[in-house]
Amino acid sequence: LGRHKDDRRQSGFTYNGVEFSQSNLNIFAGLCAVDIPEHVEIMMRALEQHGQLCTRMGAYKPRTNPYSFQGHGKGCLPWVFEKAGKHGIKVIAMEITHESHIEEIDSCLEALGRPTGVMLQVGTRNTQNFELLKAIGRQSTYPVLLKRGFGITLNESLNAAEYLASEGNANVIFCLRGMKTEAGQPHRNMVDFAHVPAVKRLTRMPVCVDPSHSVGSRDKSPDGILDVMHATAQGVIAGANMVLVDFHPKPEKALVDGPQALLMDELPAYLEDIKLCHDTW
Ligand code: PEP
Repeated sequence: LGRHKDDRRQSGFTYNGVEFSQSNLNIFAGLCAVDIPEHVEIMMRALEQHGQLCTRMGAYKPRTNPYSFQGHGKGCLPWVFEKAGKHGIKVIAMEITHESHIEEIDSCLEALGRPTGVMLQVGTRNTQNFELLKAIGRQSTYPVLLKRGFGITLNESLNAAEYLASEGNANVIFCLRGMKTEAGQPHRNMVDFAHVPAVKRLTRMPVCVDPSHSVGSRDKSPDGILDVMHATAQGVIAGANMVLVDFHPKPEKALVDGPQALLMDELPAYLEDIKLCHDTW
């Protein structure tokens, strides 16, 4: 990924017709956690209407509390993938928490004739789960979205990305999602998007920002702008190549992270604002 002295490979890759590089931008708006088919359908239909090719959909959820909803797991994959295909979604960012999930995703996509593609997401709690990273690195079918660890140094997180590449999968996007610190209050995490250009300089990975998990709420500034939008703008202006962001048709009914989900009717303005920020490049 550019950190090994002999590594001179170019940045970027194309997956399922979508290009990922250090010089373009892809938006992955979607549900933090898959809940009911109706909500997935509403989300994907809206994305199609706005010309979006990518989304985020969590089937396997790593939760702090063992009694919280853990995701529908493989049970929801067939209908999620079918709906994605129906609405022209080419890439779904989907977190996995165990290597067996790779096979579950792969066999489901294969059985359905691969209506869509999947980017395997490694969450912040698993950034240093080296055996999981090695297993993901050993397969080259799916690209990987690796989240920065929320309590470790940037260098340690970048080394985690090397675990994927050293096993053979260099199609990796690195995601900044905020750092755990009391100084982050009132946000859930300290927004770290000033690190976008640093990661682009230090590696050849495209860099993603996750404003939803960084900010953690739908709070607005006095001028009525969502904090999630402010954070998104910071990330995009800093040069982010991907935005991972939570939306939900009914945030009050969301099974995970409802308080940070943006509303469906905020999607058009959100996409337009990103376009304006990206035009400043
Ligand atoms: C997520 O994106 O659904 C998620 C749980 O993020 P993180 O690993 O950054 O907390």
